[in-house]
Amino acid sequence: MNIASVIVDVPAKQTDRAFDYLIPEKWLGVVQPGMRVVVPFGPRKVQGFVIAIKSESEFAKLKQILSILDISPVLNKELLDIGFWLTETTLCYAISAFQAMLPTAMKVKYEKDIILSDDHSVTDLHGELQSWFKDTRIVSWGDIEKSDLVKHIQKGIHNGILEVVYRVKDRARKKVIRQIEPALSPVDMQVFLEKLTIQANKQKEVLNYMIENPQKVAVKQLLENISANDSSIKSLVDKGVLKETKLEVYRDPFEDKTFKQTSALKLTEEQTAAITPILKSVNALHHDVFLMYGVTGSGKTEVYMQAIDSVLKQGREGIVLVPEISLTPQMVNRFKGRFGSQVAVLHSGLSTGEKYDEWRKIHRKEVRLVVGARSAIFAPFENLGIIIIDEEHETSYKQEDNPRYHARDVAIQRGKFHKCPIVLGSATPTLESFARASKKVYKLLTLKKRMNDRDLPKVEVIDMREELRNGNRSMFSALLFEKIQEKLDKREQSVLFLNKRGYSSFVMCRDCGYVMNCPHCDISLTYHRSNQRLKCHYCGYEEHLPSVCPECNSDYIRFFGTGTQKVEEELAKIFPEARVIRMDVDTTSRKGAHEKLLTEFGEGRADILLGTQMIAKGLDFPNVTLVGVLTADTMLHLPDFRASEKTFQLLTQVSGRAGRHELPGEVVIQTYTPEHYSVTLASKHDFDHFYLDEMRVRKAHAYPPFYFLTLVTVSHPELTKVVAITEKITAHLRNQLSASAIILGPVASPIPRINDRYRYQCMVKYKLEPNLTSILKKIVERYQQDISKNQLTLSIDLNPYMLM
Ligand code: ADP
Ligand code: ZN
Ligand code: ZN
Repeated sequence: MNIASVIVDVPAKQTDRAFDYLIPEKWLGVVQPGMRVVVPFGPRKVQGFVIAIKSESEFAKLKQILSILDISPVLNKELLDIGFWLTETTLCYAISAFQAMLPTAMKVKYEKDIILSDDHSVTDLHGELQSWFKDTRIVSWGDIEKSDLVKHIQKGIHNGILEVVYRVKDRARKKVIRQIEPALSPVDMQVFLEKLTIQANKQKEVLNYMIENPQKVAVKQLLENISANDSSIKSLVDKGVLKETKLEVYRDPFEDKTFKQTSALKLTEEQTAAITPILKSVNALHHDVFLMYGVTGSGKTEVYMQAIDSVLKQGREGIVLVPEISLTPQMVNRFKGRFGSQVAVLHSGLSTGEKYDEWRKIHRKEVRLVVGARSAIFAPFENLGIIIIDEEHETSYKQEDNPRYHARDVAIQRGKFHKCPIVLGSATPTLESFARASKKVYKLLTLKKRMNDRDLPKVEVIDMREELRNGNRSMFSALLFEKIQEKLDKREQSVLFLNKRGYSSFVMCRDCGYVMNCPHCDISLTYHRSNQRLKCHYCGYEEHLPSVCPECNSDYIRFFGTGTQKVEEELAKIFPEARVIRMDVDTTSRKGAHEKLLTEFGEGRADILLGTQMIAKGLDFPNVTLVGVLTADTMLHLPDFRASEKTFQLLTQVSGRAGRHELPGEVVIQTYTPEHYSVTLASKHDFDHFYLDEMRVRKAHAYPPFYFLTLVTVSHPELTKVVAITEKITAHLRNQLSASAIILGPVASPIPRINDRYRYQCMVKYKLEPNLTSILKKIVERYQQDISKNQLTLSIDLNPYMLM
């Protein structure tokens, strides 16, 4: 057994298979499947994953493995298999699948040290190792790796005598805090300040602060105290007025805030009815998929936690997936409060290093529960007892680049392997899941009652066309205005929600109707008020806001549409006394900003929380009694067959934010299409009815869940090429698939050009096509040459969620 099959880190069709390498004698028995190694590949040295160990190869002259990167496998057998399953079901390269399962930090070079554990002495070590640890407790892996002692080290680690610690090699990755301090005396700073021009008012603000507080201060802290930005600080540093220093701090993954310990609540009858079948399959080691359909506030999370508790008590492990945006501190605290240090948290707010630290806690079995966003589904547990996917309808569970996997599918695959239940929870399940539950493929669990026995909030739908007819041109209807005022008077809080998606603030000439478009992509440019620039959200192209229309020279060229900033300004005008917190991509881009703003609102330091999608879910503030939706229907007009479903889900979720505690809640939805069933049914909280209506529409148009979909998108810089290739692919599919498959296309994609590349698509709707993936694979092979030359891209999405 001296040959390793290795998948090399060269993502291309030609290299998408295993290559055989010889294992050097000293590493025999050490190298195992799931470890990363470095191997020669042509003239290069590349990383790779060992997928198997064998004794024979069909190739005669094998090269040797050059070094090993892991002391124990980073992917276990199950995850290796999941990787291969992903290549089959999403048509990705094996290397892409493996990499998607590991934290990004593993692509960074780490230095390893081997440490003799505190409670062991050098005599506990294997004889040959003792000389290495005679005078030290730390030996660098780089030094010892080339010796033939690796197997003894592996054993020492296994027995707890040795430990591995990782150091980041790249110094820049260490966490540093930028600090500044005066480089001049306060008097000299004052002199400098007086010489600054009027335009430099931001720099003046910085200086004034430093004159009053002439000590060392962290840049971050300074920026929180003043309105100036980093560039003003930098220019003062450049001018020699301030001095910048860097303080190195270490990440401390074990620094746990103290969480208030909670214990299991006595379950209600409904909750008991829901948890019983889950526990039954946990105990019977039985794989089932449960759909827990329960309105917001019906106690789903409590059921999850008690089911997890019983899994952990059996010594098994659990995964809880939560959409990235609902992974709020509130949510994390609930799990930490119940399960304490047994929990690891994986979300994008963590730095690369922190994510890696959390992953290692799982890998080293220091935790048994992970709460995280999509990729946490690959947590390297070996004894899973339950997987929970909260808000299962969220589209963020689908990864939009390779591998294009859906976390729900991965969960089910893992559940089959571990013989454990999967629980999908939602107040507004996807049509796909609810249909499966209706057909008894999934087991339906229903929670109908809200915990506080409160009715769901009363929802008023306002026809904005009517408002306009009555002479109200503002973005607030008379009723919403009145309600906000009322809440301000009562010192209660309001949440205002602006549905931004598909409704960017574009710039249009009011005289001739000319719209400013990106010269490279066929979409309108988005106006950014803060720097008066127009930006393309697909390719990043930017330009200045023109003062006159490029088409007709009129100076009546204005931006159109409502952004959160605009609403904020409007609020300041009509409710000057209101304290407003705005949450959108602009105000939350800095790390921790999201958390900070929510804490502020939770502590009652503002009256109104104004935001986009990111405030739609997960928030739970007792003093919020009004939710206003400024524009309910902006998403309805997107070219996406799920538009109604998404609108319904969003409106239902948003409405659920009001009246979650003692105070009753009210909701006002403003819309231009009050008659649309997704609006009327959301206002009545009527999922069941919505499901039936929407199923009828899907059936009529042959969409999921009645048909499966596959979307092939072709792009190329030349329009004629794109059309020709898409035509060929479409014809080929028509030829090869069964007569019952519906093949649409070729047609231009809803966004027909991005970054100077034309986009065409072909959509396949089908019920059963066992050969579909192999046909698609052949198509990709057929165009391989054009793809490697970087001219053509062929993207194949089996079960697409993004149809643009
Ligand atoms: P969901 O996840 O369905 O939105 P939660 O689990 O958050 O619902 O429950 C809503 C509220 O009810 C929470 O404050 C929770 O602590 C409380 N709660 C849940 N189950 C119980 C119970 N059995 N007894 C008392 N309170 C409960
Ligand atoms: Zn014009
Ligand atoms: Zn562009």
